[in-house]
Formats: sequence, C-alpha cells, structure tokens
Amino acid sequence: MNDCVFCNIIQGKIPAKKVYEDELVVAFHDANPTSPVHVLIVPRLHVPTFNDIPEGDPILTHMGEVARKIAKDLGVAESGYRFFVNVNRGGGQVVFHLHAHVVAGNDFGTLLIKLAIGGAILWRRLARLGHKK
Ligand code: AMP
Repeated sequence: MNDCVFCNIIQGKIPAKKVYEDELVVAFHDANPTSPVHVLIVPRLHVPTFNDIPEGDPILTHMGEVARKIAKDLGVAESGYRFFVNVNRGGGQVVFHLHAHVVAGNDFGTLLIKLAIGGAILWRRLARLGHKK
C-alpha cells in the first residue's frame, strides 16, 4: 500500500519518532499530538479499519498489551491514560490503516468527555428539581 502513510512509516520511507516495535506492531508519537502523551500503535499488516479485523485475530489484544507497556514506559500508567480506536469517518478516523491511540494529559477529547458527563449530571439534577415542584 504505497499511498498509505502508516505503511510508509512502517517501511521507513516516512520518518516517525518510534517508541516501540516488534514483529506485529510499530508505535510512534503522533505528528499532531492532542496532549503531552499521544502515541499511535499500528499493526504492520495493512488492515483499513477496526471492522476489518478477522474474527479471532489476536492483534487487538496485542495492541492493548503494547499500550500498557508504552504507558508504563512513558510514566502515565498510574496517573492514567486513554486507549482508543477511531472507526470510519463517523468515528473520527482519518488514516485508513488500523491504529490505536494512547493519550495522556489534558487533551481536548478528555475535556469534552468531562464536559459531557458534567452536563448530563447537571441536567438530571435540574430535571429532578423540576419534578419536585
Ligand atoms: P485517526 O483520526 O484515528 O485516523 O488518527 C490519525 C492520526 O494520525 C492523527 O492523530 C494524525 O495526527 C496522525 N498522523 C497522520 N500522519 C502522521 C504521521 N506522518 N506521523 C505521525 N502521526 C501521523
């Protein structure tokens, strides 16, 4: 897949700041980090999306294990991090070579999630107050 940016990184044709690699995956810092720690874990095999992983394929388990190792190595395992996969355009996927994000720190996504949860709690409390009247 010559036009795939992640295939090109895996093949060493495009530079990346690698933090880990083995026979199944390569992990490197995101070029446009949304937080102090933002690493991508990419399978060497070109699989376009999460939906395309064959049933029973252990790649996701391996990516999870690699994420835990990277989080530990980068010192965020205990303080906390997010491990996620965007799936297709509606899910925010931009690069169509399967990859998982490892994100830690005050990133925009975490802020949005906190705002949404806070908003939902506030909405429920206001709704309850309304019922009591
Ligand atoms: P996604 O939205 O899940 O498809 O995420 C794709 C990610 O790949 C984005 O966070 C981009 O910043 C990142 N990205 C794109 N090109 C490169 C590159 N050459 N090196 C490192 N990260 C990249």
